[in-house]
Amino acid sequence: MFRIILDAGHGLYTPGKRCLKSLDPAETREWILNSRICDKVESLLDAYDGYSLTRADDRTGERDIPLQERTDMANKSKADFYLSVHHNAGIGGGSGGGPVTIAYTNASAKSLECQKIVHTCFTNAVGTFGNRANGMPLQNLHVLRETNMPAVLIECGFMDSAVDVPLILSEEFAEKAAKGLVQALVQIGKLKKKEDAKVEEKFVDIKGHYAEKAIKDLYAFGVINGVDETHFAPDEPVTRGQVAVIARNIIRYITGE
Ligand SMILES: [Zn+2]
Repeated sequence: MFRIILDAGHGLYTPGKRCLKSLDPAETREWILNSRICDKVESLLDAYDGYSLTRADDRTGERDIPLQERTDMANKSKADFYLSVHHNAGIGGGSGGGPVTIAYTNASAKSLECQKIVHTCFTNAVGTFGNRANGMPLQNLHVLRETNMPAVLIECGFMDSAVDVPLILSEEFAEKAAKGLVQALVQIGKLKKKEDAKVEEKFVDIKGHYAEKAIKDLYAFGVINGVDETHFAPDEPVTRGQVAVIARNIIRYITGE
């Protein structure tokens, strides 16, 4: 079981943390952006098995949970990975920006490996933007320093960059960002898709068989079943009756009828 702590930075009313008014008249709060991505990460992860996920922030945003409380919770729950999601500031309305993925100044080898995976998956998913000279800096931040497990903090984009703000406010960006982070979590936690995990547990006699992937897919599609609860018998012949059932299931899968 891979235990993930997902941390949407700050809270709804944290002073300061919001988009620059001249670029976003609504002054969208950072937690809203962080939380939107984290929510999407959670729903995308639903397709996977073998993990548990706990949010370190208050899902309603009402309370800005103190950093110490967030890391204490992570340490107590003996989590395997801490991922903190933020949006950056410091451009002052200029055009620079881009994602920054941070590990602790004295990060473990495992944390550095995770930092690289998160940064690569994230930038692949959202596309390259910004002008950061170093997209993977090491910094002495509380959630990176006080966590006992590998930890990474990602700043998805700048809330005061003329280039980043329209991007990070969009639903499309949040979706891509979440996809990238899920790819990273799948890689770090070696997570498997639910169907694959189920079929692997289900049929003990298909591992390494040339038709393994086809069997898993067709079982997931509801086209073909095993010979009993745990065996598929991949090298046994089929009868005319079984072919009829399989063909009917294929038609049902394709046409829905
Ligand atoms: Zn932040």
